[in-house]
Amino acid sequence: HHNLYALFRAAFGQSLQKTAITTDDGHSVTFGDIDALSGRMANWLESLGLRPGDRVMVQVEKSVPALLFYLACLRSGMVYVPLNTAYQSAELAYFMENAQPAVFVGDPARLAALSPLAAGLGVPHLVTLAADGSGSLMDAVQAHPGEHRVCEVSGDDLAAILYTSGTTGRSKGAQLTHHNLASNARTLQTLWGWQPHDVLIHALPIFHVHGLFVAAHCALLGASTMLWMGRFKPRQVLDWLPRATVFMGVPTLYVRLLQEPALTPGACGAMRLFISGSAPLLAETFREWQQRTGHTILERYGMSETLMLTSNPYRAEDGPRLGGTVGRPLPGVQVRCVDENGQACPAGGIGNIEVRGPNVFPGYWRMPEANAREFSADGWFRTGDVGHFNDAGYLTIVGRSKDLIITGGYNVYPAEVEGYINELEGVAESAVIGCPHPDFGEGVVAVVVPQPGASLDPAQLSAAIKERIAGFKVPKHLFVVNDLPRNVMGKVQKNLLRDTYAQVFK
Ligand code: ATP
Ligand code: MG
Repeated sequence: HHNLYALFRAAFGQSLQKTAITTDDGHSVTFGDIDALSGRMANWLESLGLRPGDRVMVQVEKSVPALLFYLACLRSGMVYVPLNTAYQSAELAYFMENAQPAVFVGDPARLAALSPLAAGLGVPHLVTLAADGSGSLMDAVQAHPGEHRVCEVSGDDLAAILYTSGTTGRSKGAQLTHHNLASNARTLQTLWGWQPHDVLIHALPIFHVHGLFVAAHCALLGASTMLWMGRFKPRQVLDWLPRATVFMGVPTLYVRLLQEPALTPGACGAMRLFISGSAPLLAETFREWQQRTGHTILERYGMSETLMLTSNPYRAEDGPRLGGTVGRPLPGVQVRCVDENGQACPAGGIGNIEVRGPNVFPGYWRMPEANAREFSADGWFRTGDVGHFNDAGYLTIVGRSKDLIITGGYNVYPAEVEGYINELEGVAESAVIGCPHPDFGEGVVAVVVPQPGASLDPAQLSAAIKERIAGFKVPKHLFVVNDLPRNVMGKVQKNLLRDTYAQVFK
């Protein structure tokens, strides 16, 4: 059976009485409940006359029924298409037009805006689901039985289309097959040692690869329990920590948890693993977490198109977890750094990161030009990230190729310069960008956020940076701001910064 749901069902099938999910509003469901309710939902989908391969688009608040609805799509062979809850009408119109879903599940509070959109774009079925489970979806599924035969699919059939975060431009629909998802879930389960007695604090959104395809998949495949919060609340995480064994977060979640005085080694008594990804973890956060909790964060690297690619070691005998690196390629996954001609870089050389493996998607949905451009003839996917390997095979990401700066013919890697700036007294974080420059092509610009209460002097910062790095890397302009622009996934939007500072050298 190649259906991903069959894999989950086999994993938790012996534990149907066991609590699978406990929520922050005090509800619990067992694995048996998961199987029965997702079965009802799958039967409802099939009753609409949908065919395997039809797209089912979902933009709802995080909830347990929303997760089960994803499983229902898998079971019935539909293609699940989750959307970021922040998207508004103009964005929704693009996604609906692009994916042409047969069903759209939206928030009841937005029904007035959704109805004309769905009607105008020919989406036949519009239903609603609220965070508390109310809405027309759950009403409709109640009439259907919980028993459902899992739809037979081939490993190459699509399970989901996941729109990328849109950090560098318009979101692209990454097609993911049952085999892509299953192989990556199995690899992570084994590598990170998931067991039935594990308890995961699930604090991430479920419209993104991190919360859905890393966090939830690992817990389901481990037959582990999830402590489930609709929205990230640091206090709730701290309340749950003593009962939990695993936590996954984007770097901003770790920064916010560090602001909680109750974060102590004692509070993490049962914890075995803290995982970070989706954006670079600051060296300072990595260090501070070690000091405050006694735990070393495991940083890993992946993306919508490829799922997870690399991970720092889990077991001590496999080597240390190195801050500032994203670890080694996962078993079965090939990762290489190549130069502009596609030639492998010598050890330590900085190059474009390309990847190949069972986890790598078959291509973007309805984007033949992008697929022709982003895959090599022999099947390597060009990630758009730039990095280098150290002698022990650990990968460091220095930035996205779109963010690299070429100034007077020299390459400047933003992450390197940011690293030096972030080490300076009073600096919380920074973003280094290239802006059009009449003489140099691009000029280096730094946008710096002070630590709470610190006041930063751009001239002093510049002088301090000049002592540490080569002149061509030193920002020619340095701006102090309160916040960096981030998208919902906590990623710094450098394209917005480049727009803001486009005129500085003009
Ligand atoms: P878009 O492709 O639409 O511009 P996006 O690349 O941000 O958006 P995602 O697929 O959500 O969309 O994110 C994947 C990217 O996130 C990776 O290509 C990489 O740049 C970044 N990333 C993920 N994990 C890490 C990490 N541990 N360290 C640094 N960067 C990371
Ligand atoms: Mg991307």
